[in-house]
Amino acid sequence: MAGRSRIWTEVDFAAPGKQVSYLHLPYSVTRSAYGTIAIPVAVIAKGEGPTVLLMAGNHGDEYEGQVTLTKLIRKLEPDDVRGRVIVLPAANLPAALAGARVSPLDGGNLNRSFPGDPDGGPTAQIAHYIDSVLLPMCSVWLDLHSGGSSLDYIPFASIHLSGDPALDERALQALRAFGSPLSMVWAFFDEPRMATGSAHKHKLVYIGSELGGTGSVNPEGVRVCEEGVIRCLAHMGVLQNQAKFAVPAAPRIRLTELAGREYYVYAPDAGLFEPACRLGDTVREGQIAGHVHFVDDPAREAVPVYFRRDGLLVCKRHFGRCERGDCLAHLCTDYGG
Ligand SMILES: [Zn+2]
Repeated sequence: MAGRSRIWTEVDFAAPGKQVSYLHLPYSVTRSAYGTIAIPVAVIAKGEGPTVLLMAGNHGDEYEGQVTLTKLIRKLEPDDVRGRVIVLPAANLPAALAGARVSPLDGGNLNRSFPGDPDGGPTAQIAHYIDSVLLPMCSVWLDLHSGGSSLDYIPFASIHLSGDPALDERALQALRAFGSPLSMVWAFFDEPRMATGSAHKHKLVYIGSELGGTGSVNPEGVRVCEEGVIRCLAHMGVLQNQAKFAVPAAPRIRLTELAGREYYVYAPDAGLFEPACRLGDTVREGQIAGHVHFVDDPAREAVPVYFRRDGLLVCKRHFGRCERGDCLAHLCTDYGG
């Protein structure tokens, strides 16, 4: 997108040391004619080295990454670093403060807004700033997601295949360094408006995650995230003082993939979904995933919903009620298996 961002900041991204400040997105409304949305940002830098962008709050109701990065900003000091760490702990701040996936200001889903628009609403402007100002400074981007309000996930970190074998190999090495016991390769991808699309355009190593969900904070997801971020920074050579963070070595990971749309299960009808399986179950093609019940028409038979492939149940819908077309679950399979 042509045009310069109107987002401004007191932060000097070229300066060494530790700066904890704000990105100011002009937002003129009745209660504040010359106001800005103050999006928190931290820069911790010392000496020559790579730049890593750590980001959470791409979706506002995905909390494990927000907890991890808020804590890290307080703990990480310039002497711990060689290079530069840029931290956005609540990238779509209006969504994060609302505890919502999308922004209450414009309905914007940041992870469907890339590469953004400097003349668009707040969400598009945030995407544009990340794409046009932050990403050109970086070689690695950790974009920490979870399942949000509507989904529940077994915690994992992930990469998206880019089509560039050399970049994918670097990403896979970073994923192994992150070391979430379950790890995922998204081999199925048809949404260039996501962050990963911008990451691959800029030839960045992009690590994503799904660290829990249900609109709450999963303590196991926070642990996986905190340890993974530290191990990843050390792997990149940015973290010089790993002992300070007392993180164990990466465990042996189970590397899985999501190979296509047929690994998803969608609601065939609106109603109340009764799942037949639990997260972590290994399921078979043709197995019943659950039933949609019609509490307003109890004489009507429940509609069965089937898995269309064999796999590991890694994600399920959290809410009981569903609309036709809602994602009820998805599977993964062993990578290259
Ligand atoms: Zn997300």
